[in-house]
Amino acid sequence: MRATRAIVHLGRLVQNIQAVRGRVGGERLVCMAVKADAYGHGSVRAAKAALEAGVRYLAVATVDEGILLREQGIDAPIILLSAPQPDELFDMAANDLSPLVSDRESAAGAAEAAARAGKRLQVHLKVDTGMGRIGVSPEDAADLAVFAASQAPLVYAGTATHLAVADSTAEADIAFTKTQLALFGKTLAAIRQAGVDPGIVHAANSGGVLLHEDSWFDMVRPGIVLYGYSPLGKAGDAGAAALGIKPLDIKPVMELRSKIAFIKKVKKGETVSYGRLWTAPEDTWIATIPLGYADGLPRALADFSVRIRDSFYPLVGRVCMDQCMVSLGRETDIGRWEEVTIFGGSAAGASDIAERTGTIPYEITCNINHRVPRVYQD
Ligand SMILES: *Cc1c(COP(=O)(O)O)cnc(C)c1O
Repeated sequence: MRATRAIVHLGRLVQNIQAVRGRVGGERLVCMAVKADAYGHGSVRAAKAALEAGVRYLAVATVDEGILLREQGIDAPIILLSAPQPDELFDMAANDLSPLVSDRESAAGAAEAAARAGKRLQVHLKVDTGMGRIGVSPEDAADLAVFAASQAPLVYAGTATHLAVADSTAEADIAFTKTQLALFGKTLAAIRQAGVDPGIVHAANSGGVLLHEDSWFDMVRPGIVLYGYSPLGKAGDAGAAALGIKPLDIKPVMELRSKIAFIKKVKKGETVSYGRLWTAPEDTWIATIPLGYADGLPRALADFSVRIRDSFYPLVGRVCMDQCMVSLGRETDIGRWEEVTIFGGSAAGASDIAERTGTIPYEITCNINHRVPRVYQD
């Protein structure tokens, strides 16, 4: 195996699930987002561990992601979060992937595909209360609910919306989320009034789980908190604490590790890596790590330290496609093939890398790609 690998701590995933279930109440359904290969953690192993830990529903973005789970023997309900194109509808229905229905065309397409596949397919109505992505407008929701419920090959299983700023503690964002939830509440009433049972009602992503109890309804739909990161960021976590909201006891599930593949001493004044951005201020031992932007470590990463034994050592010079360099200082007894932790475990978090590169931890773990073998641990 390559020296560079992602250790996936399934035991921590289970603990994070327990933390979320503790927060929202054990009787409330949990639908875990396992799209994008479970945010880079490996959807099949993550889903199987989660289902054993009491998660009842899974959510994917694409039909192919859902088929992969079915092929690996997972028979839990799977919700398809993104809109499939017409030539994917048959496979969607044949594999019992429940679409979010946003208009008559998507409802009729699902019904037709379900009939062809000889299935009764569960669908959820998606209401756009302010995300501006997919979903039926609140005014048209009751009509569409009646239409979907009248399709014999469909089972009207649930009603959902998605929150745009549930992970923010800014006053205006909290107010916007309350507006979305109020609109959703009115829409649910209209659907009931039209004679349709809205089924399982769900809205909360991780931000909703953390900050908005009134978004929990029958089922919560978290992703990132289950993988061990707060969607609030450092400032948001502080804001939540100021609002008297207890942090969740969660731990990063992914630990990115590698080994020192080469060590050499560079002389004072010599430079390291492309662009010669780093000059040795004194004679310095430099370790080369076989990990680069082609593995998903952002090329823009700077001002960052990795952990070797119990100390932190700075990345120096530009991250290359397949390698990066670390300064071990003027003198060192660290040797070739020693372990290096880049993030997770007792090193920095994917959130620290995200902060330094202008993104969010979701993108960091998602981008650790298939060139990096996953090693599963309990
Ligand atoms: C990705 C996604 C989620 C989970 O979001 P997190 O912020 O990771 O908790 C929930 N619902 C929908 C519709 C999504 O697309």
